[in-house]
Amino acid sequence: MTSHKSIGQVLGDWDPAKEGAELFRIVSDLYPICRRITGEGFRESLRYLGSYAPMSCEEVPTGTQVFDWTIPKEWNVRDAWIKDAKGKKVVDFHKCNLHVLNYSAPIHRKAGLQELKEHLHTIPNATDWIPYRTSYYKETWGFCISHRQLERLEDEEYEVCIDSTLGPGHLTYGELGLRGATEEEILISCHSCHPSLCNDNLSGMAVTAKLSKHLQQLGLRYSYRFVWIPGTIGAITWLAKNETMLPRIKHGLVVSCVGDTGAFTYKRSRRGNAEIDRAVEHCLRHSGRAYQITDFTPYGYDERQYGSPGINLPVGCFMRTPHGKYPQYHTSADDLTFVKPEALADSLFQLLSVIALLEQNERYLNLNLKCEPQLGRRGLYRQMGGTSSKQTEEAMLWTLNFSDGQHSLLDIAERSGIPFPALRSAADSLLTAELLRKI
Ligand code: ZN
Repeated sequence: MTSHKSIGQVLGDWDPAKEGAELFRIVSDLYPICRRITGEGFRESLRYLGSYAPMSCEEVPTGTQVFDWTIPKEWNVRDAWIKDAKGKKVVDFHKCNLHVLNYSAPIHRKAGLQELKEHLHTIPNATDWIPYRTSYYKETWGFCISHRQLERLEDEEYEVCIDSTLGPGHLTYGELGLRGATEEEILISCHSCHPSLCNDNLSGMAVTAKLSKHLQQLGLRYSYRFVWIPGTIGAITWLAKNETMLPRIKHGLVVSCVGDTGAFTYKRSRRGNAEIDRAVEHCLRHSGRAYQITDFTPYGYDERQYGSPGINLPVGCFMRTPHGKYPQYHTSADDLTFVKPEALADSLFQLLSVIALLEQNERYLNLNLKCEPQLGRRGLYRQMGGTSSKQTEEAMLWTLNFSDGQHSLLDIAERSGIPFPALRSAADSLLTAELLRKI
């Protein structure tokens, strides 16, 4: 029999400095790659993550119908620049891949300043930052530059070049399945289609890849399915191709924006009180960290696809500062200085705590339902001056009282206010003393 580490051991042996350094290295290594919803940058990123998460890469051809959507053309870009009248490059894709409007059609010609300006995107109130803009479903060309760069452009003729291809190809996504004791699955979903932006979405890619790495070493109750997909179209594609297995998904999380130093944010699934919603809320409440819980909205990341009415999976969204709520969001300032190793590591720790709870949330039956069993006789009650705390005893009494077959340990944790791990270890002691039976 192979002996596996327990998830409790992983959390007990946690080394935040080591975890943080490794997560930050993943983010740094992926940062230069120009990702988008299709194309080589996306594939290259999945190949890199493959050393942590041995995933399969699925390729879905352009033109494939996925529910109400169609897989778009594949976009690749080799180079993009703007040269001034003297032939000097004033905008260069190789200095920052945000410079080219993501999915820009190819172009190579001259343009006067007035015409050029119609194709330039800036952020007027953050003059040094380059915006991240896309045009996936409308064919056009454009550049994103800092407002300061725009102000320096003279009224002269420019040469613009976007050496891109937009044609038949594939949409790529990565998928990793981990088999547990049951076929019931936990889905972890991460959009992976942004170019050089760290918090949204490299932090999620790094944390989910490392999460899978930890889970690969464990004996698990649930099966797990990790997907690294392009936002929106990727989730729609994955759901369309996997409709028959969706009933197996019992819990799920979209993971994004987990590298900044802001408080945790958990956005509930559309169901609102699914076990995943209660598990995340319980873990954050007892984490000692600042956090907020928000209700589901049909806006945001891919939780809105998982939570569309005909799908309605229990999938929430785990974040720190939500999209759009930090000024660096979707700009060049969401860079390697904006995400912190310790924030990445703590996000991973909280996710592992949530999974530990789901893995260990069982229902039990008290085998001694008429009055309390005599704990002292079984060595379970406080020894004089012993280390056994009041909480340990309370945890045992709560577990015994509500293990009537109706209540899970999470139910008891919520009702008692006692942290889940204390109830878990109380249940283990009571099982050893043969006072409980697992249902
Ligand atoms: Zn985004």
